[in-house]
Amino acid sequence: MSPPVTITFLGGLGEIGRNCAAFELDGRIVLLDCGLMFPDADMLGIDLVLPDFTWLREHADQIEGCIVTHGHEDHHGGLSFLLRELSFPLYGSALTLGLARNRIDEAGLIDRTDLIEVTDGERRRIGPFDVEFIPVTHSVPHGFATAFHTPQGVILHTGDFKLDLTPVDGRLTDLARIGALSDQQGVRLLLADSTNADEKGYSRSETTVGAVLRDLFASHAGKRIITTCFASHVHRVQQIADAAVAEGRTIATMGMSMKKNVRLARQMGLLHIPDHRLVDIEDVGELDPAEVCIISTGSQGEPMSALALMAADENRWIKVGSGDVVIMSSHPIPGNESNVSKVIDGLVRVGVEVVHSGIEDVHATGHAKQEELKTFHSIARPEWFVPVHGEYRHLVAHARIAHQMGMAAERVLVCEDGDQLQLTDDGLVPHARVPAGYLYVDGIVGDVGQGVLRDRRVLAEEGVVVVVVAVDISTGAIITGPEVITRGWVYEDEAAEIIDQCEAAVADAIKDAFARDAIDLESLQRFVRRAAGKFVNEQTRRRPMIVPVVMEA
Ligand SMILES: [Zn+2]
Ligand SMILES: [Zn+2]
Repeated sequence: MSPPVTITFLGGLGEIGRNCAAFELDGRIVLLDCGLMFPDADMLGIDLVLPDFTWLREHADQIEGCIVTHGHEDHHGGLSFLLRELSFPLYGSALTLGLARNRIDEAGLIDRTDLIEVTDGERRRIGPFDVEFIPVTHSVPHGFATAFHTPQGVILHTGDFKLDLTPVDGRLTDLARIGALSDQQGVRLLLADSTNADEKGYSRSETTVGAVLRDLFASHAGKRIITTCFASHVHRVQQIADAAVAEGRTIATMGMSMKKNVRLARQMGLLHIPDHRLVDIEDVGELDPAEVCIISTGSQGEPMSALALMAADENRWIKVGSGDVVIMSSHPIPGNESNVSKVIDGLVRVGVEVVHSGIEDVHATGHAKQEELKTFHSIARPEWFVPVHGEYRHLVAHARIAHQMGMAAERVLVCEDGDQLQLTDDGLVPHARVPAGYLYVDGIVGDVGQGVLRDRRVLAEEGVVVVVVAVDISTGAIITGPEVITRGWVYEDEAAEIIDQCEAAVADAIKDAFARDAIDLESLQRFVRRAAGKFVNEQTRRRPMIVPVVMEA
């Protein structure tokens, strides 16, 4: 009997983002990614969403480290929160760690966190695991798939990947190595990216975007060109820069993360822009607009980003108009569509020509589509399969692909956040459930619970009615009030009459209550809430939050 490997999914199975999984052998744990998720519009006031750290906290002293598969925040953005409580080293490519360190540094945790660089094809021991880092192509350079060589055989986790056969840097997904693993040891268990599992065909190669960009730059001679993409998408930035330089333009970056990442990638030799072609955004005003290319953040319509401020005519450096073309080299991630469309609208309103992925092929996805997934499965030929990274429908679509590729239904397990599996000599079996709810972060602390969110929703949709009254409990006399104060139910200045009526209704209810019974403060509060709620609902068919404030005089 070989010891079992236990795998715990803490995020990324059932949503796009907050990817986090734990691999456990002989009582020691290695994490694979710890990401964040951007909130939906109904998560009011929430900045971001993290994996539930309860289980990790309970197993804190068993954690050997965290493998960071690539430089996207949905894979490492949770670390700056988790590392406040726990301490362990991070493993990743130089670029991945360079991108991940920003948030960790901002949180003041960099001095007590070891960042350990690993290279393509490297094998190293992390705790009890023999871990191998296999190159993959994705929308940020230098991502890895991870092969865990374990007593239960090879467990292969793809991370985020696509099969780009002509990537900008020529670094391919190492299918040859995966084929060799499959031939020699066999892949016992495959965990693979499902983000695009319900998209037909193949993803386009990143280099095809470069050709489109070159054409756009050529056909917009005479205009200032402003482009936007993810700041971590070094290859996209490279292709924008190449198109700009080819047309004799000078490049300025805009937005903090774009500036930082361009500097980092140039230092690492991953991004090539000649020094004399770069200028600070402060100095861009001195140049002929037709000879400028700005590369900006804000591709997701983030309200405070450089691009959104430009659309709202509040950008410090740039005022845009009919002499400008904005190329949005990106695709909105779920939840950001309305922000993106607001930004486009704002730009078009002031006369800017906007080119986006719905008009021209100025974007290529970083995730494998169906035919690529089939190719991958045909090479890895796993014994067991669990689809990861995706909403539930993506996971199911990926399971279907595995069936199409000949896997027996019982060899494919569709799991969700909180599921714990065990790989034993007998196969892969569900083991337990662990807490894996959303951890909502507002500001810098994750203490926003479901109750707070529910309150925020009621406040946002219906408003609040506060009823203040002071009574003499012993006699039942109303000393002051009731006074009704509201925000969001009716507009106080224009609704004196209905507010007076509401106050009268509450006063009647209090008198009634005292006439019937001796009464305490707490039950009086209930009477006040019920009377006010009933009045508000009957008169206006609304259900604002009712807050009774009953004082004893
Ligand atoms: Zn990614
Ligand atoms: Zn991802």
